[in-house]
Amino acid sequence: MNVYDSDRMSGLLESQGYQLEKDIRKADVVLINTCSIRDKSEHKVLSLLGELRPLKQKNPNKVFGITGCVGQRMGRTLLQRVPHLDLVMGPDAIDRIGGLVGTVLNEGKRVLDVNFDADRKKTYSQPSVVHRAKPSEFLTIMKGCDHFCTYCIVPFTRGREKSRPIAEVISDVRSFVEKGTREITFLGQNINTYGKGTSESLAQLIEQADQIEGLERIRYVTSHPRDLGEDLMAQFGHVSKLCPALHLPFQSGSDSVLKAMSRLYTQSQYLEKIERLRHYCPEIALSADIIVGFPGETDADFKETLKVLAEVEFAGVFMFKYSPRPGTRAVSYEDEVPESVKDERLYQAQALVHSILDRQNRALIGSKTHVLIESLDKKGKCFTGRNPHGKIVHVFNAGMACVGKTIEVEITEANGSNLRGFYVGAPRTIREDGSLSSPSVSQAPN
Ligand code: SF4
Repeated sequence: MNVYDSDRMSGLLESQGYQLEKDIRKADVVLINTCSIRDKSEHKVLSLLGELRPLKQKNPNKVFGITGCVGQRMGRTLLQRVPHLDLVMGPDAIDRIGGLVGTVLNEGKRVLDVNFDADRKKTYSQPSVVHRAKPSEFLTIMKGCDHFCTYCIVPFTRGREKSRPIAEVISDVRSFVEKGTREITFLGQNINTYGKGTSESLAQLIEQADQIEGLERIRYVTSHPRDLGEDLMAQFGHVSKLCPALHLPFQSGSDSVLKAMSRLYTQSQYLEKIERLRHYCPEIALSADIIVGFPGETDADFKETLKVLAEVEFAGVFMFKYSPRPGTRAVSYEDEVPESVKDERLYQAQALVHSILDRQNRALIGSKTHVLIESLDKKGKCFTGRNPHGKIVHVFNAGMACVGKTIEVEITEANGSNLRGFYVGAPRTIREDGSLSSPSVSQAPN
């Protein structure tokens, strides 16, 4: 979501005549978009601001701004603590960014905007910003969250749930597709409840997006196990452009920890959803988030988490140690788990997940898959994209003409969570140094 927000801010500023400058030393305005989901990210922001102070000393006219959830959470305190900071704004102020930056530049004022939408409507609109389109794009369709999981800062930094109308979202998808996008990932903190309080729903949006000519793939993130309804699960069985992949965080396998987290489901209810999803789409790749070391988590609780990991065999898991966030309910919970125990549990969970992933990926060697090529990798050695299951695949004999195209790839190697392979049909030439040549443009698919 922050990648999308950053892109949107840059698009809005570009539409007002600003130019994107990636060299922080040359830029007139430096905006740092932030996340406050974990304590560590907040510390990083403060230390980065300290490192940037010499640039302000050298050029007092350079504008520094903090955007995103750290700005929302810390607000005025940030301006007080960091004298060389000119602008602090939250995620709900994104559409006002041009005016806010203009006020700092033209009037020399320090600016704070952490206001949420004042109205109580369940819908909102945002100006379309489709200034450039990558093969795979994110698109926010709703904001906020009405759940209050006891560890989570999101409802405090992004407010209550509000959805964009389907017509507005579909219009943005069409604009992306016209510019070359082939895969769209709809974003929402609690996306299954998209349309809540209106007559629209996520299932309806997916059905309409499925009809868009030129769009090849649809994904969405993030789902909540309680809100993932039968209609949404069934779509994995019959909506042709909906990728067979779903991120469904479970956080803990222990019912008592889930209760303390206020996650509103039990382990068995979560596993039932997994069963239903696999009923509709046996090949579906499932991924999840877990938190280890939540206050009160015992060894027996943690074993339940390992049990779910082993039973479901996820295609990917984001694993975190519990990090207390000021303002959330869990901060006041006693019975904190010692850091060393959290470390040990994280290590155990990682070892289990990696061994499962390793086995899954090795089983794919020799198989063929379809990869939407997104870019040449940073070192210029191969092209990178994802298959329908969301696995990253590095392709060694593709050409620039493949970027933005879906090509058939034979998997030849599995490396950690990544796969490597060759574009089927393109001749491979082995150079003297052992590297493989790329096919010519004419060998790329149309
Ligand atoms: S559902 Fe997700 S975003 Fe909402 S409070 Fe819970 S963890 Fe946070």
